[in-house]
Amino acid sequence: MAYHEVEFLTSSPKVEDCPQTDLPEFVLAGRSNVGKSSLINALVDRKKAAYVGNKPGKTRFLNFFKVDNRCIFVDVPGYGFANRSQKELIQFGEMMDGYFTNRQHLRALILIVDYRHKPTKDDITMIEYARELHMSIVVVATKKDKCKRSELSKLKKCISETLGVPTTSILDFSSTEKEGVDELWGIIDSFIND
Ligand code: GDP
Repeated sequence: MAYHEVEFLTSSPKVEDCPQTDLPEFVLAGRSNVGKSSLINALVDRKKAAYVGNKPGKTRFLNFFKVDNRCIFVDVPGYGFANRSQKELIQFGEMMDGYFTNRQHLRALILIVDYRHKPTKDDITMIEYARELHMSIVVVATKKDKCKRSELSKLKKCISETLGVPTTSILDFSSTEKEGVDELWGIIDSFIND
């Protein structure tokens, strides 16, 4: 696995404070506890070196990371955390609105879902939002190692139907097994080189 240089840039609630770069940007989103930090760590081959692991729902802001001086990963706070107040939900919506409509170098939404579970209403909202903005969408189904082999195709069909994406476009992933890491980099590279 290739070594990846990762630099934490900033954590910001406001689009005005987001780092100004010309690098292609990828936004990674998913519900709390889905395995997003683990996926990012698996991608950059770190335990926690660059990425500060967060308690579910604790990190409220957009976190920007520069990877290999080639692209930016934007880690969106995990959504669907039960204890969020109405005010916090509105703030989250405004932050995402501000972000999505202002980032010129945004290449794709990488939506992370749990292989075992039907995607939530929040996942659907996120994907519909990206569609409205004509963004490219990559769906990654993580924690595959926790699934029974015999159930994989049924589980994938459920994700596919719920999100309205073809099963063939859903990437199998496991952070513990490092499955899907090279494939996801392949997809990210294809957007970078586009
Ligand atoms: P986040 O809240 O979305 O950032 O989720 P984390 O990355 O912190 O993961 C939540 C929990 O799921 C942790 O206990 C992880 O160790 C576990 N986890 C994450 N990805 C995987 C995976 O691919 N396989 C397995 N077995 N566990 C995982």
